[in-house]
Amino acid sequence: MNLSSWPQCRLLFTVISGLIADSLIGCSGMVKNDRRREAWALDASVVQNEDLFWFVMNKFSSVFGSDVMSAQAVTLYNDPGARCPMNVLDPASIRLAMPSGMNFWSQFVYQLSHELTHYAIRQRNQAGGIGVRWFEETICEAMALWGLRVVCDDWRRSPYFDRPIYQFQMRKYLEDELRDNASGDLTPFHDVSSIDELVELDRLAEGEPGDPLGAMHQRDRRARERVALYDLLMRRRSDIKVLLDYTRHIQPVPSGARDPLFIDFVEWQRNDVAHQDFIRELGGIMELPGLTVDSSEV
Ligand SMILES: [Zn+2]
Repeated sequence: MNLSSWPQCRLLFTVISGLIADSLIGCSGMVKNDRRREAWALDASVVQNEDLFWFVMNKFSSVFGSDVMSAQAVTLYNDPGARCPMNVLDPASIRLAMPSGMNFWSQFVYQLSHELTHYAIRQRNQAGGIGVRWFEETICEAMALWGLRVVCDDWRRSPYFDRPIYQFQMRKYLEDELRDNASGDLTPFHDVSSIDELVELDRLAEGEPGDPLGAMHQRDRRARERVALYDLLMRRRSDIKVLLDYTRHIQPVPSGARDPLFIDFVEWQRNDVAHQDFIRELGGIMELPGLTVDSSEV
């Protein structure tokens, strides 16, 4: 053997052995007869995305656990004409809202990651299904950015490893989201200064039927928090699962509000000393300094 060609041979061997390993366990890395396969049904409208679905699912299983990600049967479908993804109306189905076009795969990963986070939170909900919507939506939006990032970073193992243009588009999609959210004169929800404003922020957090633009506006108000939370999640991957516990630390319903509006971050830290630093940072991002809440208000 010509020694000068050894580095190329070694590289070739690494690529081939990686491909063989992937083919043995499926390019998604999923083990056959996985319980998640029984829980998740893919409708005909998304079945062409099946390999990418399982690739994203594996990323979420690695942080939330396969048990959590298979705890409830659900059907995933796409409605290209829908204004936004949704799973709140029927927990047994998750709707994506992907139009066709150049960013189709990026949209798929982005929307799916958001809804997988709702799904995981619901499986661990300790408050009878009740949540704090403005808080949960921000978590899901940050995890949508996280999903894009981890898929891009592990592209070599993705079902589309041979199509670098998809990776390029997805990374650009992520960078555009981060830039649009981190800069500009968007108003963060730190300016919320009354219970009424917070009730309104919460009411429009996921989007009300007939008011999609209102939901977009409220999402903009959480933009900086979303990027700050994404940064935290990228730094502390092993703590991400702690987010699923948030419903244990919600405060009572303020009079007149449909759902709770607050998280008790101090009590949460006290009850989970092992993740105290992460919860403290989370509270620092999501606090509402413009809103003083005394016990008579809640
Ligand atoms: Zn949502």
